[in-house]
Amino acid sequence: MKPIQMVDLVSQYHKIKDEVDEALQGVMNSAAFINGPEVQSFKKELAEYLNVKHVIPCANGTDALQIAMMALGLKPGDEVIAPTFTFVATAEVIALLGLTPVLVDVDPDTMVIDPKAIRNAITPKTKAIVPVHLFGQCANMVEIQKIAKEHGLVVIEDTAQAIGADHTMEDGSVRKAGTIGEVGCTSFFPSKNLGCFGDGGAIFTNDDDLADRIAMIVNHGMKVRYYHDEIGVNSRLDSMQAAVLRIKLRRLDEYNANRRAAAQAYSEAFASREDVQTPVHAEYSSHVYHQYTLRIKGKDRNALQKHLMDKGIPAMIYYPVPMHLQSAYQDPRYKKGDFEIGEMLMNEVISLPMHSELTEEQINHITSSVLEFLNQ
Ligand SMILES: *Cc1c(COP(=O)(O)O)cnc(C)c1O
Repeated sequence: MKPIQMVDLVSQYHKIKDEVDEALQGVMNSAAFINGPEVQSFKKELAEYLNVKHVIPCANGTDALQIAMMALGLKPGDEVIAPTFTFVATAEVIALLGLTPVLVDVDPDTMVIDPKAIRNAITPKTKAIVPVHLFGQCANMVEIQKIAKEHGLVVIEDTAQAIGADHTMEDGSVRKAGTIGEVGCTSFFPSKNLGCFGDGGAIFTNDDDLADRIAMIVNHGMKVRYYHDEIGVNSRLDSMQAAVLRIKLRRLDEYNANRRAAAQAYSEAFASREDVQTPVHAEYSSHVYHQYTLRIKGKDRNALQKHLMDKGIPAMIYYPVPMHLQSAYQDPRYKKGDFEIGEMLMNEVISLPMHSELTEEQINHITSSVLEFLNQ
């Protein structure tokens, strides 16, 4: 059996090696490293895939969030609502821009931001909501858009973990994750569902004016070269990354389908267990399984992780500490005990290996090792 990894990028590369190598050689031959034709084509192809008007590539997913907030004109003192149970990037850029992060709890089943909690956190200073489509499943965008409309708020979707996921709207129409709010932000970090060979990110929007401002901000705040209309940043996706992403974008649905098949095999193996909660599917969203995350109930989750390690199976805790308990984000507004669900999840969750290349043999070894621990 091939060694099991959390993410197997080498096997994935080998299946597309000839195509990728040729594309990278092409970039080197042209030396169009920045903003070359590969970047322009990728922008168009991703916009078509997502069915969104504008895609503005940038250097990484964290930049994407920061640039979106800058382009929306959020100012120090503005309150931005974000989930406490997530990756740090969201709270980080809010804090870096001098905005006030307002943390809220998540839904215990889907683990994404809870619309009821958003409603309760709104004050006259609230300006924006940042739903994170955690682990590959969308936050409830119908409810979130309703709340945003009622209160005149902007919605910035963090879709770094859910690219390709489908969200069903109230009228039955289907939209891609990241294209529902004012702006969507994603990451092409190698281990994401659509990953490049380094760092990369993108911002999407259907709003022409906002797209103009984003395009200006990523490029030092300039439209005409060396004339700077506002303070911007330098955040680019390079041509090598775009070349890789174009090839992988054509296979994204297949990669996501492989992840779903692996997830289904996992969930079937654990279906009858009362000490394990398998991922719960929201009726409004498809799941692209950036992570396959179990909740372990009444058993020692850390001991399970160790048991799996001993069997040659990596397993990760996403995330061991919610934002309100992180040292860097200590705030007199929050204390331990404030977010019941986030604090429960931090002790129960464990993510099993998840990628597009898992074999049946590997999956069987993983599920039988988990069951062996639970039965002992
Ligand atoms: C990965 C990730 C980011 C940040 O992306 P980078 O490209 O690493 O900066 C932001 N939000 C979430 C939810 C992520 O998973």
